[in-house]
Amino acid sequence: MKDFKLTDHFWLHEFLVSRDHPELAESLNPTEYHIRNIYIQCAYIWQPVRDRLDVPIIIGSGYRDPALNTAVGGSPNSLHMDASASDAFVIAHPNIMRGMFIMMRDEMMDRISQLIWYPYKNMIHAASLVHGAWRCCQIRHEANPLTWEHFDIEG
Ligand SMILES: [Zn+2]
Repeated sequence: MKDFKLTDHFWLHEFLVSRDHPELAESLNPTEYHIRNIYIQCAYIWQPVRDRLDVPIIIGSGYRDPALNTAVGGSPNSLHMDASASDAFVIAHPNIMRGMFIMMRDEMMDRISQLIWYPYKNMIHAASLVHGAWRCCQIRHEANPLTWEHFDIEG
């Protein structure tokens, strides 16, 4: 498929990846609908985060087709399959992930429907606003759901 630049710092191919199953990401074939949604999350979430923190943002998991979503153990209703969510990280000082989460929580929930920081995986999951989607803002300290911290969000 044809690659192209979405925003100042992101290309489409950066959202067609899987840190855990790169071999399955190679056969991803997003539709126009998916590419539009990738553009929306890039323009409204990831490029502004990139601009604000001034460090490279690396997408570890972006758009998933059902096979890739199953392989990575994603939720059956995952917004990754809608191309509206990505998991991202930065390679820098470890505390930058905390700062990134706090900045997104405090400044960007007007455009984010799901914000989840997984410190043990060094990943932040964020989804753009999707009508009818479950909204959340959480830190998941471990795989054990009892160790979630929830933050109230507006709307
Ligand atoms: Zn995710």
